[in-house]
Amino acid sequence: MQIVDVVVIGAGPAGSVAASYLKKQGYHVTILEKEKFPRFQIGESLLPCCMEHLDEAGLLDAVRERHFQKKTGAAFVKGDKHCEFFFSDQFTEGWTWTWQVKRADFDNTLAEATKAKGVDVNFECEVTRVTCSADQQHLEYVDQDGQSHSITSRFIIDSSGYGRVLPRLFDLSKPSAFSPRGAIFSHLEDSNRTEIAGSNIFVHSFDNNRSWIWAIPFSDGSTSVGIVSDKEKIMELAEEGGAGYKDFIRNFEDLHGRFRQSEFRFEPRHILGYSIGVTKMFGEGFVLSGNSTEFLDPIFSSGVTFATASGLLSAKMTHKHLSGQPVDWTREYEEVIQRGIDVFRSYVTGWYSGDFQTIIFADDINKDIKKQICSVLAGYVWDQSNPFVKKHNTILPTLAKVVRMNQRTLAAESGS
Ligand code: FAD
Repeated sequence: MQIVDVVVIGAGPAGSVAASYLKKQGYHVTILEKEKFPRFQIGESLLPCCMEHLDEAGLLDAVRERHFQKKTGAAFVKGDKHCEFFFSDQFTEGWTWTWQVKRADFDNTLAEATKAKGVDVNFECEVTRVTCSADQQHLEYVDQDGQSHSITSRFIIDSSGYGRVLPRLFDLSKPSAFSPRGAIFSHLEDSNRTEIAGSNIFVHSFDNNRSWIWAIPFSDGSTSVGIVSDKEKIMELAEEGGAGYKDFIRNFEDLHGRFRQSEFRFEPRHILGYSIGVTKMFGEGFVLSGNSTEFLDPIFSSGVTFATASGLLSAKMTHKHLSGQPVDWTREYEEVIQRGIDVFRSYVTGWYSGDFQTIIFADDINKDIKKQICSVLAGYVWDQSNPFVKKHNTILPTLAKVVRMNQRTLAAESGS
């Protein structure tokens, strides 16, 4: 039987960051990954904050070499309203840009760079059973030939994303408070890109805050285009090979014909009911990271940044634990990750309630407020000196109320 220091389940961004960091500290690390890479994954627009995590894990240079599409900001559109954020103009000091990536290539780059550091990365190995105790963890997995194997480790980091291996096996999942939504998407040719929209992500809100479209340009001239809405609408758009989705993307007037003639590079895929939480993020012999913890909603592109943030912090805590120092997992890990998630939860809530959109689409949005919101959108959700982080649960509804009052007063004054 094989015995290693740490087994990481999953070779997504969370797993590669965690494994690379631990390898750097001198541990024998093994990744067990269910799929053969490169494999498709959704989640293509990164946030500047994740650059810090990739850098600390020693993975940034490998990604840089791939020449992915540079992302310097994000634009939000609603009918004739438009608000563009640039990360160079933000409150928190940090990265002012990042990338938009095809995840097949991005995740494969991370996994290969992790392997090059000396981590055993085993593809097509699906973890099926896990037993944990204070100092020995036992995993069973099945390889591509259907053969069963087992491996023992001192610790496990679960980075299995949507697979949620330990939350499933240990019954740790918790339903999300958000109403069940879904998304349908494909990659399209985008020859009208620069004329209409430039190269940053565009988010188009419609249906009275119920639905939105993302357009995420890549460096090869194609663009990822997805529609997010409630489950029923996505199921309807997905019928007959996504005919409704294709028709919508070609004809939605706020896209101004950007994709009217575009080829779809693959048949539309859809995903439903992705929001989910956990009752706890750690236990005897294991810690959860990335989407194995909680996934809120795609609106602010926060998923990969949370994966890299929690991948890195879980690895640091694992290092501390394995080197014999006491770890307060609640305070030093779970509460830190939860704090970041809770900030984004307020913004996701504010997006669908309309409060966030009322603020950003106001004609006279204050420059300082915009900078502070921009830092949240860049992923700097742990900067307590930013009032839009610190008071995240009250600031959006309060400010939106003021904006609406001002708009009513102005309308009354102008007699409209
Ligand atoms: P993953 O990327 O899911 O990687 C987990 C890996 O674990 C996978 O490779 C999987 O094969 C493997 N695995 C699973 N089960 C097992 C098993 N039993 N044994 C071994 N291996 C296993 N995020 C963004 O940052 N930007 C976006 O623009 C964005 N858009 C999104 C749009 C939609 C519609 C949705 C639903 C999500 C979006 N996200 C986005 C979120 C993003 O997809 C995830 O947050 C991110 O992929 C999480 O990374 P991870 O490393 O935790 O998991």
